[in-house]
Amino acid sequence: MGNRFQEALASGRVLVCDGAMGSELQKRGLSGGDCPDQWNITRPEVVRQIHSAYVQAGAGIILTNTFGANRIQLAKHNLEGSAKKICKAAVALAREAAGPDCIVLGDIGPTGEFLEPLGNFTLQDFEEIFREQAEALIAAGADGIIVETMTSVEECAAAIKAVKSVSGAPVVASMAFEPTANGDFRTMMGASAAAHAKGNVAAGADALGVNCGCAIQPMIKLVEALRKTCAKPIMAQPNAGQPKLKNGLTVYEQTPADFAANVPALIKAGANIVGSCCGTTPEFTRKIAETVRSLQG
Ligand SMILES: [Zn+2]
Repeated sequence: MGNRFQEALASGRVLVCDGAMGSELQKRGLSGGDCPDQWNITRPEVVRQIHSAYVQAGAGIILTNTFGANRIQLAKHNLEGSAKKICKAAVALAREAAGPDCIVLGDIGPTGEFLEPLGNFTLQDFEEIFREQAEALIAAGADGIIVETMTSVEECAAAIKAVKSVSGAPVVASMAFEPTANGDFRTMMGASAAAHAKGNVAAGADALGVNCGCAIQPMIKLVEALRKTCAKPIMAQPNAGQPKLKNGLTVYEQTPADFAANVPALIKAGANIVGSCCGTTPEFTRKIAETVRSLQG
């Protein structure tokens, strides 16, 4: 039997991915100092419930709650030795919620650290750290891996190589871009869409993604730009509009219906997988899935 994510990508159909995890955990009591990844172990019923809500809303792909489950991020919570245990528990929860048809991608986020000379880490360090996480996610039964919210092509490529060193599983490489004043897009570390495509395809990415950083309207242009640079499947996960500060809290105010109204243009621009990022809920996924169904008949 082939890999089900690879088969889904090859089908040519537009796939629907889930939405935000962090803000859903916060609604259920996760506070600023808590480790979201640890909740796979300490509050499994909460994580399972969020996954289930996205599956019921129509997600064909869900991402494990392991965005920060690498040794460096976990060390901030004195959990640096728990990466394997947390990743294993996370995949099990996602699989339970996924049922027989939904695809589970193991989620790998940034280390939050910089490479030499800006920081203290070498590419080899990053690869080793990501390998530990990737190995645990794949061994636990993830259908593939998404490396996401990356701002450095080098770090993203290190994560892809780490996955490929332990498994042939498909990898989505997704970076976070923000619009620039002159109408272009850059990551926080200054990478362009073309650099993303070049560096990460060379590292072995099976699909490219853009997530976070943008609302859906600017992301249509970003996907168009990325489509010009590569033929790989493209995944797009916009935020729920532009963030606003209200009483010291970051809030996203776009409605699911307004978001979904832009989905046909996002697909036309070249997106093959449509999900959503910060500030979104299962209601966004429901509207995305309805829109994709109506487009594909
Ligand atoms: Zn986000």
